[in-house]
Amino acid sequence: MDNKRNGMDSLAFLFLILAVVLAVLSSVIQNGTYRLIPAAMAAACLFYSVFRMASTNIGKRRYEAERFSGLFRKDPYKRFRCPGCKTLCRVPRNKGKIRITCPNCKKQFVRKT
Ligand SMILES: [Zn+2]
Repeated sequence: MDNKRNGMDSLAFLFLILAVVLAVLSSVIQNGTYRLIPAAMAAACLFYSVFRMASTNIGKRRYEAERFSGLFRKDPYKRFRCPGCKTLCRVPRNKGKIRITCPNCKKQFVRKT
């Protein structure tokens, strides 16, 4: 069996850190019942982290990691509604003042991106 494993990736690392934080949290809490909650969550995070590292389905794991990092990436486009036909026009961000040509009715309008 020489299946390649996913190994440590950003998500596995995140859940590993989360597991450590939750474990510390559960050790700080004195009440026996309440400390079980972060302890159980720490165990779940640790389990998921190990699962990711041990997984041989690399394509699927990579897809999940990309979906996750996409949550924090800023949308590189800004959307404006065409004043003529109300079509949503997508333009790249941070280009200053630009003239946008509506792809639908060819009307031109200037907007700050
Ligand atoms: Zn238009």
